[in-house]
Amino acid sequence: MIQLLNYINGEFVQAHSTETINNINPGTGMVYGTIPRSQTADINAAVAAATEAFPAWSSLSSEERSTILVRIADGIQANAEALAQAESVDNGKPISLSRAVDISRAEANIRFFATGILHFASEAHPNNAFVNYTLRKPIGVVGCISPWNLPLYLFTWKIAPALAVGNCVVAKPSELTPYTAYLFSKICAEAGLPNGVLNIVHGLGPEAGEAIVQHNGIKAISFTGGTVTGRHIASVIAPKFKKMSLELGGKNANIIFNDAQMDLAVSTTVRSSFANQGQICLCGSRVLIQANIYEQFKAALIEKVSKIKPGNPLDPNTRMGALVSEAHLNKVLSYVALAKEEGGNILLGGERVQLNDENAGGFFMQPTIIEGLGPQCRTNQEEIFGPVITLQSFETEEEAIALANASVYGLAASIWTENVTRAHRVAQKLETGIVWVNCWLERDLRTPFGGVKQSGLGREGGWEAMRFFTEPQNVCISVPKQ
Ligand code: NAD
Repeated sequence: MIQLLNYINGEFVQAHSTETINNINPGTGMVYGTIPRSQTADINAAVAAATEAFPAWSSLSSEERSTILVRIADGIQANAEALAQAESVDNGKPISLSRAVDISRAEANIRFFATGILHFASEAHPNNAFVNYTLRKPIGVVGCISPWNLPLYLFTWKIAPALAVGNCVVAKPSELTPYTAYLFSKICAEAGLPNGVLNIVHGLGPEAGEAIVQHNGIKAISFTGGTVTGRHIASVIAPKFKKMSLELGGKNANIIFNDAQMDLAVSTTVRSSFANQGQICLCGSRVLIQANIYEQFKAALIEKVSKIKPGNPLDPNTRMGALVSEAHLNKVLSYVALAKEEGGNILLGGERVQLNDENAGGFFMQPTIIEGLGPQCRTNQEEIFGPVITLQSFETEEEAIALANASVYGLAASIWTENVTRAHRVAQKLETGIVWVNCWLERDLRTPFGGVKQSGLGREGGWEAMRFFTEPQNVCISVPKQ
């Protein structure tokens, strides 16, 4: 049994209450460790440590903070395999994905902002007899709360810019996937991050998470998770006038026009629909296909997806692992039942998968393709967040745009066409924060990342993140001509 601990003021500690929560391996269904069940007292201790650390940390030069953050990135690189194993044990994702995406991206996040701070600048606005310049001041103590689907990847995506610009952080990973955050806290300690600059507190959302959101000593909240949780957090912090960044759910459309490169569109749709068992906020879950290639595309998609077999997440050949928890698997399966009730036709999959040996108790599911449902049915409206997609057909470009936008969400979309004029035209009409054309999940860390409508508020990435984690202050100086 692995006993994970909180990282508060540079020390590894239990929760004040000494209570713990079991940590389950989704690939086996077995309890393999515990995490502290932190409450308000633990968050208070973390905020006190962060508050004390803030004056010294924020007074360091950018170069000094950069040097420490680069050492943390080096630590991730040096421990990459152990982190990848931990991520797969904790989350159920294939080890190949943990290695290629999760851990390498976590390292890149830290390195990106560690070096970005060396280039971060603010504006000056000279005007006649006055010069205005803008200071970008760190906010103070900030809260970072992240979900389970890309655990260390999304955790570091928030923490890195917050620390780089001089804030101190109280961070909470998801209670379902705490393992790499704990290993990360060890790496930060070994890299010489001063005590209290980063505090990692484990526990349940409505307890530890809520205490972070409520705490008046925390001046900004960066949250990634579900839209329902985001709405609640917004309602708590809006009257407190905290800054907030909310990265929430999605119901993304892949729009396949009849002039698309068929092989590329099919193979990327397989990846964009089922990577990480469909548990990426950017996954395309509504596949919209032009009517005169619908049958051809459908047949090619089914042929490819039918070859994906869920397997042991720790096997390097596995391409589809386990869903994160039994409760989540049951939720996803309930959407397959709903799709049938709504009149959908299950073209492929739809069932739980029973593996053998040590994976007999794991939370595996067949990749699932559904057709025959209209845009307004719940299956096409609600985020399922699993290996389940629907197919719909359209005749015209206008119809494709209307179908894609027929959602309360607005995170991402992909367009598949060889017509460059149409690609630009359609991209501009999509109500999403991100559009990919003839590609998916290509991420340049400098670009603004986030969604519109109920997919969130604000943007992460590049200068957007550095701006979020700083408070602009304008200074106006009189410069008389004589
Ligand atoms: P969730 O909202 O249940 O939990 C996210 C985090 O919030 C967890 O750490 C949880 O403990 C915490 N939390 C829960 N209740 C809280 C409360 N009352 N106060 C403070 N914190 C609280 O989400 P999840 O199930 O972990 O993640 C899946 C969701 O995340 C999906 O909807 C997915 O689309 C979304 N997501 C969005 C993005 C994005 O960038 N837009 C990226 C990844 C995941």
